[in-house]
Amino acid sequence: MSSSAACIFCKIIKGDIPSFKVFESDKVFAFLDIQPLSRGHALVIPKFHGAKLTDIPDEDLLEVLPVAKKIAKASGAEDFNILQNNGRIAHQVVDHVHFHMIPKPNEQEGLGISWPAK
Ligand code: 5GP
Repeated sequence: MSSSAACIFCKIIKGDIPSFKVFESDKVFAFLDIQPLSRGHALVIPKFHGAKLTDIPDEDLLEVLPVAKKIAKASGAEDFNILQNNGRIAHQVVDHVHFHMIPKPNEQEGLGISWPAK
């Protein structure tokens, strides 16, 4: 993987900053967001360091979406949003590409979360 010494998500991948990991493979890492918009809100990231979607090689990006699908299944939510911000005007705060996986729980039934994602 490429990495930036100053990048907090690269530090999370390396374990230098603690996180609640929900999935890891050679090219992809996923962990719970520290300020969740809903229960189970996860961030799915390529291990390759790049700020924007346009910085990430196709071979790395191609492995991200199937992981988002695993996370969606593990979250137990039938409804969910996937969100990916690029640049300050688009509300990107952390300059390492990340996909927000935001479960939208059914108000009556809640979520049947089962981490780690498989
Ligand atoms: P952005 O606005 O860049 O799309 O979202 C960045 C996300 O990263 C935010 O939802 C924020 O809560 C999350 N985040 C920032 N720093 C950390 C951290 O140190 N640990 C975790 N788990 N999430 C973080």
